[in-house]
Amino acid sequence: MNFNCVFSSCSYKRNGIEEKEFLIHLKEEHHAEMLEISKKENMPINMIEMITISNSKVFINT
Ligand SMILES: [Zn+2]
Repeated sequence: MNFNCVFSSCSYKRNGIEEKEFLIHLKEEHHAEMLEISKKENMPINMIEMITISNSKVFINT
């Protein structure tokens, strides 16, 4: 699976990785940002993680 990190300040881009590898990136680099969003939206952080993962997925037809 290909990921292009949805956070605009971040240039993380990886091809052919598992969702769980991208989740590690999110937890390491964007924990504070996701915590902010989770507070603001009043949603659990694992929900924010799931949304961020799905928004960062890149679908390429080759
Ligand atoms: Zn990132």
